[in-house]
Order: sequence, then C-alpha cells, then structure tokens
Amino acid sequence: MTPELNELKVEPRLWINGVWTDGNGTVIVTNPATGVTLAEVQRGGADDLRRAIDGAQRAFASWSHTPSAARGELLKRAAALLTARRNTLAALLTREQGKPLAQALGEVDYAASFFQWFGEEARRLCGRIQPHPTPGFEYLVQPIPAGVVGLITPWNFPLAQGAKKVAAALAAGCAAVWKPAELTPLIALALAPLLAEAGLPPGVLQIVTAPGRLVGEVFTNDPRLRVLSLTGSTETGRTLAAAAARHLPRVSLELGGNAPFIVLPDADLEKAASDLVRLKCLCSGQVCVSANRVFVPASRESEFLDHLQRPWLKARVGDGLQDGVDAGPLIHHQACQQVRKLIEDALSQGAEVVCVNRTHEADGSLAAGSFCAPTVVRGVRDDMALAATETFGPVAPVLTYQSVEDAVCRANATPFGLAAYVYGGDLARARAVAEALEVGIVGVNEWRPLRAEIPFGGIKESGLGWEGGEEGLHEFVVLKTIALPRPRLDLDGRRDP
Ligand code: ADP
Repeated sequence: MTPELNELKVEPRLWINGVWTDGNGTVIVTNPATGVTLAEVQRGGADDLRRAIDGAQRAFASWSHTPSAARGELLKRAAALLTARRNTLAALLTREQGKPLAQALGEVDYAASFFQWFGEEARRLCGRIQPHPTPGFEYLVQPIPAGVVGLITPWNFPLAQGAKKVAAALAAGCAAVWKPAELTPLIALALAPLLAEAGLPPGVLQIVTAPGRLVGEVFTNDPRLRVLSLTGSTETGRTLAAAAARHLPRVSLELGGNAPFIVLPDADLEKAASDLVRLKCLCSGQVCVSANRVFVPASRESEFLDHLQRPWLKARVGDGLQDGVDAGPLIHHQACQQVRKLIEDALSQGAEVVCVNRTHEADGSLAAGSFCAPTVVRGVRDDMALAATETFGPVAPVLTYQSVEDAVCRANATPFGLAAYVYGGDLARARAVAEALEVGIVGVNEWRPLRAEIPFGGIKESGLGWEGGEEGLHEFVVLKTIALPRPRLDLDGRRDP
C-alpha cells in the first residue's frame, strides 16, 4: 500500500452505494517504473456490476430531481477538493501510471477543470418554448437526464478521462457506474471519498474495477443503462457499439487516432521541434492525440532533424517521482515490445534511426521498469505500420513531402480523424491547412489544444460524440417535448375563449 492511499482514504476495493465492498477476485497493480506492487485491488464480477446498477438506479430517482444549481455546487466543491489534494493525487497517479510528477499534477488540474466547468454548466442546461402552429397551443422542449449511464476509461489518463465523463454525467442529473482500467484503478477510486466529502449521495457514482469484456456484456445486456461512454481503442469501440444494438443506449466513443504533425515550409523549425518533443513526452506518447506522423518538407528535413535532436536527447527519461524527469515508462513491457516491433518493421523496410534517448539506462534501479527509449526515425513511408497504426509510444516517425497539398492529402488518408497539428509562419495558410484536415481538433502552433471548455471528439473511426464544452453535457441528456394547450386568460383572470 502506498502512503497516498491512506491519506486519500482509499481502500483498494469496489465503491458501491457509498461504501467499500469486496468483489470476487483481485487484480495486482504495479508501478511501471520499478515493477513494485502497489496494491491488490478487488475486482468485481457480473453480480457486483448488477448490484452497482441497481443502486445507481435507486439513486437516480432523487439525484435527477436535485436542482441543477445544487448539483453544480457539489461538482465545484469536488473541483476545489481535487485542487487542495493535487500533490497527493499526483503522487499516486505517477506511481500507478508512470507519468512524470509534473504531468500528473497537470492531469489533476485538468480533471479539476472538468468538475469546475460542468459544475458551472449544470445550471445553464435549459430547454425552450417552441411556438405551435395552432393557436392556443405550445411546445415545451425539455432536456432531461438520460438515466443510469456506464462509463469505461483507459489507463493513460486514468483520472482526467474519468473526470470528463463523471462530471458531465452528474451535472446532467445521471447516476453513473464507472469501470476504470484494471491497470490503473487506484486513482479512479480516489475520487470516491472525495466526491462523498463534497456531498454526493451514495449510489450516484459507483466505481467497479472489472474486466473490460465482462463489463461490456453486463452493460449492453441491461436495458436500464441509457448511455455507454467509452474511451479506448477503436476495436473496443466497435465491439461495444455492436453489442449496444441490443437495447440501443446512446454510445459515446473516444477512440484511437493517427495524428499528423505537419511542419509547413515557413514554420519556425526550432519551435516545432521543441513542441514535438513535449508532445511525445506527454505520457511517453501513449495518448490518442499524440503525433503519430511528422510531415516535413523534403527541402528542410535535415534542418528540422538538427533542431529535433537536441531537445530529444536532452529530455530525461526515468522514474516520474524523481526531479527533472520528462518522460516515464510505458504502461507495461508488452507495450514496449509492441513499439519496438513497429520500429524494427520500419527499419527493415528502409527507414533509419536518427537518434535514441537512453537516459534511463544510467539508473540501475529502473532495470525492472517498462521503459522504451524515445526514438526518432526518418525515411518513414505512409504504408509502413509505424505510420499507418497508432504507435502509442515515444517515437517520432518523420515523413517528407514535396507540396503542402500532398501532405494534407496523405494526412487525411487514414480511417482515423482525431487530432492534428500544423506549424507555420503564415497564419492564414496554416489556418487553411487546419481547415482542410479531417479531424476533430487541430492545434496551430500549439501542441496541447485541449481544455474543459471546448468540445473534444473524433470524426471518422476516431469516435462518436463529444467531451468537454457545452456539448459534453448533451451526451448525457435526452430531449422530451410536450405539446400542450396554452390557456389564455383575460386581464380579469377569465378564460379567453
Ligand atoms: P487500451 O488499449 O487503451 O487499453 P482498450 O480499448 O483495450 O484500450 O481499453 C479501454 C477500456 O475499455 C479499458 O477499461 C478496458 O478494460 C475496457 N474494455 C476492453 N474491452 C472491452 C469490451 N469488450 N467492452 C467494454 N469495455 C472494454
């Protein structure tokens, strides 16, 4: 057990109906930087999941009728508590997920920003009166909470991905059953006592660590679940969406990406290169919005690579709890093998390694950690698996282009459409390129364009629906329209015939 669990009052169990309970098995959670066991966490079975849904259904009855302003106040209190405990939460997040402490602090703040944002948005959720074509009638269009919802999150941003969904669902008046990734359940469980302290009634948020496939089966077989919101791989999204055909809940999906990072001929190469290093250090590239293909003008490739090598090799890879570490380990050894396989495949087809950052190798205490040396590869072609699939690792595959039109066309030639980056000096041209890209979000001269107040979501096979912004709240409401007579009274209160 880590000291943070005690401090945050977290027990490694299931959180159902406001109490810690046991499941029907356990899962071992380890620190990916050292391989040390952090906790043996209770894992739920089908009965636990159904019990959680039963409790959420009961809690929904009163939570959905709690005034939205009161729901919002509670969420804002949760934001304040997250901020007050950011150091402890971040230390737990780093231990469990591996990302450097500075990034973990950023994730806690990002998570808090969703509680704050949806806390504010809760009371702005309103309907409208729509005129009726027949005199003496009108329509009331009302947004109402969708019901009990199932939330499924991955291990790369285990707190923030949960916060985005939980805060929006609760603001909308839904009750939720949240299934965190089994590799990183502790930071998710840390939200349970925190929300209870903020005043959340038991049952409104249930947290059940359980195997993904089982959760998918239970959630899609239960007609009470009216929204299923998943952040995960495109494959899992497809499986869940297909199974959801049974009871037709709304399916909200944040899936994989294959983000192009386009360096235009007039870009500030030094800035583009240093932003690329920061982007690839973020969660060691294990992010659906990470740059997966770096498009550089052929005429400026060597100049760009010169600018890239210095910050790339200067970044420190290591245990995220140590000072000055810029990139942590990957989530497990299998992830490292997968990344190495993609690099080797590209090299066997003619790509070349430009540089490799091996700073973690100097620290013998990290020998058991799942580290993957950040690598820049040039000579990558569009048809190589390194460019065609989501690498999810600290690799920068560099591809060259002759014309900007060619770069945009190749950038769009993928089934994914999540994020893209454009670096250029002439902002009008950079904007034209951004507009031509088939993605949900583009950063122009910006490597981190995500915020609670803007909608984030993918197009094409990167997802369905939006998180954040006012749109994020709408994922958890349904509209109900009542057509009704509108009695008219004269000024003496008599009914106007
Ligand atoms: P990643 O590769 O990022 O782990 P996954 O899609 O495998 O992406 O996992 C994301 C989340 O989806 C995890 O919480 C995982 O347990 C869950 N999951 C995996 N398979 C299924 C499924 N068939 N139905 C529902 N959830 C699933």
